[in-house]
Amino acid sequence: MRIILLGPPGAGKGTQAANIVEKYAIPHISTGDIFRKNIKEGTELGKKAKEYMDQGLLVPDELTCGLVADRISQDDCKNGFMLDGFPRNIAQAEQLDKYLSEAGTKLDKIVNIEVDKSILVGRAVGRRICKSCGATFHVEFNPTKVEGICDKCGAELHQRADDNEETVSKRIQVYLDETKPLVGYYNKQGIVADINGDQAIEKVFADIVDALGE
Ligand code: ADP
Ligand code: AMP
Repeated sequence: MRIILLGPPGAGKGTQAANIVEKYAIPHISTGDIFRKNIKEGTELGKKAKEYMDQGLLVPDELTCGLVADRISQDDCKNGFMLDGFPRNIAQAEQLDKYLSEAGTKLDKIVNIEVDKSILVGRAVGRRICKSCGATFHVEFNPTKVEGICDKCGAELHQRADDNEETVSKRIQVYLDETKPLVGYYNKQGIVADINGDQAIEKVFADIVDALGE
């Protein structure tokens, strides 16, 4: 199964990705996670990506498309993958389609998680992520049992550098201008499943399973 998780920042893509990976046993490929790993490791790519991420802007396509093509050509993606945060604009989607058609495959489904703009900022600003296993929580909507400590592995939680109100607002605007048009792009291919993301996490996942099949 080859799927894409689409939706604005804070829609719940990462949260649902953890559930999807467990059920369907496909690799989770998040371009945001790849960039953050590079920033942490101090690589050239990380240094360049950080300039854009700190401003809530998209990292240029030249730095993004190649790394996704490399990643999905790896062995563990032979039977499927889930992209989270890629593509982010029409040019990236076109490059992905070209790559897949040359490889003789295609996308099966776009899981489009829809959440009203008014609740996105609160979702992102309250997001906390485990420093060790990457699990995602929310101070109010999905709190850990012990404040600041991951329920899954016991490590400390942290807040993403770009999860402040100003940068989140910019990221939402970038989503509306550059990423949302992908819904129309993939609707033409007839593969979009619209999911209401403004429901309990378990209910959102149940709707995704309905759309993807057991
Ligand atoms: P994305 O990957 O789309 O940016 P996340 O999955 O990281 O979004 O979710 C953003 C924040 O909202 C996280 O703190 C997460 O715990 C919380 N969240 C995710 N899904 C829901 C939901 N259905 N209801 C309330 N809060 C949610
Ligand atoms: P995310 O983790 O998906 O919220 O992404 C965090 C940030 O990483 C975004 O605001 C962008 O700056 C950058 N980013 C992630 N994926 C992409 C992409 N496909 N194209 C361009 N920039 C990206």
